[in-house]
Amino acid sequence: MKKVFALLLAVAMIASVAVLAGCGNKNATTETKPADTASADTKTNDSKTYVIYSDNAFAPFEYLDTATNNYVGVDMDIMAAIAEDQGIKYEMHNEGFDASMGAVQSGQADAMIAGMTITDERKETFDFSDAYFDDGQVIVAKAGTTLEDLKGKTVAAKTSTVGGEYAESIKEQYGFTINYYEGSDNMYQAVLTGTDVACVEDFSVIGYAIKSGEVDLSIISEEPANVKGYGFAVQKGKNPELIEMFNDGLKNIKENGKYKEILAKYGY
Ligand code: GLN
Repeated sequence: MKKVFALLLAVAMIASVAVLAGCGNKNATTETKPADTASADTKTNDSKTYVIYSDNAFAPFEYLDTATNNYVGVDMDIMAAIAEDQGIKYEMHNEGFDASMGAVQSGQADAMIAGMTITDERKETFDFSDAYFDDGQVIVAKAGTTLEDLKGKTVAAKTSTVGGEYAESIKEQYGFTINYYEGSDNMYQAVLTGTDVACVEDFSVIGYAIKSGEVDLSIISEEPANVKGYGFAVQKGKNPELIEMFNDGLKNIKENGKYKEILAKYGY
């Protein structure tokens, strides 16, 4: 009799544990972080694989490593490190900057990480993470070109970027018109071949391309203009848990040295 009771008790205990597990955080079994982490129960979503878009020719943030045929870069590594830290499942699609903006805005993508500058205007349609890098825009041309040489010519800018906005804001002052390109690589090419006299690009990106010997161009403006933070972005009001996880993960990888290690890998 005692034995039967003990057995029943054991079964009851197992059942109640199972019920408790079932009623609590549905992710409890895979939650590896300490329970004191803020709102852990709303943060992990086991079943969901997030679709994340990015640029495809924006070194050192995202670019194709031709040796491995994989997209690599600061953004790719930061995303991977944060995903590992937070248990985020995701698929990365490197489709270009304008395409990423469109994909997030249409809901085709859950988020984007693409050296995207956080601006007040974008905040009307996107929610951003904390900034993870600061950058501004410079004017780039063949060595020996001066800002006076832009007069009456065309300047290349990249569709949907703050570089394009900057070009628009100074075109009257310098007397140029703007040609838009989808990719940074197309933009550099247009300047190298002489289609456009100059282009506008984020300082770190063109700086990296010049330093690595990839493009034979020079920065002809002075200090980078409109320096602002880069952020990970979602459609406004959508996937708030993803922004929260990104921010928590960013904080953790800054604390554990991983963030520094990633930047150092790309020469920062
Ligand atoms: N930082 C710039 C922007 O947000 C350019 C981004 C990019 O071309 N990937 O507009």
